[in-house]
Amino acid sequence: MLRIDLHCHSTASDGVLSPTALLAHAASLGVNVLALTDHDAVGGLDEAKKAADQQGIMLINGIEISVTWRNRTLHILGLNINPDYQPLIDGLNNIHQLRIKRAQNIAAELKKYGIADSYEGACFYAGKDKLIGRTHFARFLVARGYAKDVRTVFKKFLVKGKPGYTPHEWASLSQAIAWIRSSGGQAVIAHPARYQLGKNLLDQLLDEFKALGGVGMEVVSSSHTPEQVKQFAQLAIDKDLFASCGSDYHGPNESYLNLGRLPKIPAGCTPIWHDWALPASQIHL
Ligand code: AMP
Ligand code: MN
Ligand code: MN
Ligand code: MN
Repeated sequence: MLRIDLHCHSTASDGVLSPTALLAHAASLGVNVLALTDHDAVGGLDEAKKAADQQGIMLINGIEISVTWRNRTLHILGLNINPDYQPLIDGLNNIHQLRIKRAQNIAAELKKYGIADSYEGACFYAGKDKLIGRTHFARFLVARGYAKDVRTVFKKFLVKGKPGYTPHEWASLSQAIAWIRSSGGQAVIAHPARYQLGKNLLDQLLDEFKALGGVGMEVVSSSHTPEQVKQFAQLAIDKDLFASCGSDYHGPNESYLNLGRLPKIPAGCTPIWHDWALPASQIHL
């Protein structure tokens, strides 16, 4: 039986482990197929591929693109993308620049609240020349004693109505799907339950997503309860979308699920990997 995990993060975005350490961890847990899906970044994929080859793991080149859709932030996964596709690289570079500006705005907001030097603090956690995001601010705030862990930070800071929040305009849904598709990848809606869309809005999102060429939905996710897994499995079937599964692993102590430790995709769904050339004949459905 193959262990397949199609959503996780490395130090190329806001994961704790380097790509090499991540692949070693995946191997220790018996993962056979792993997609590295860093936020708005492909910088970890080269190192991940080398490590995956050494560990005998099939690496899927992935990404998780931040999108603004109707004033909300959504995450769109790209699986089997080409990380060397120039329009994608140009787009991501632009997003990185905008992320730096946003980080400076976040620091200015935190300063109003009496927390100094958070930009430098977040940069320390992000690492040199790496993408910067709210998780890096969260780690800084934990280190400074403002919260006991990263999860708690997101209850007290960095979200709407709390210190350190700034609005931000991400890529459009059509742009993100176009980058993914034109670089040869498959677009998958990440952790759909997280957006708390009502039935109508969710319906509209899925129809628009499909019309733009999106093909999959993350049915199994650490963000989903067992009930939500069933609910989104049915929706994937109804909307004729492939089902994906991912731990959204960010590192030890920062994740609900370990790499590859996922419940099965419910029967009746077509897994996103149904036509991939997987490393073994016995496929984990
Ligand atoms: P950004 O893309 O910079 O806005 O950061 C988004 C990231 O923050 C997510 O991918 C998570 O890693 C983290 N995050 C957001 N909300 C939470 C939460 N409630 N608990 C833990 N981490 C969170
Ligand atoms: Mn993250
Ligand atoms: Mn996400
Ligand atoms: Mn993620």
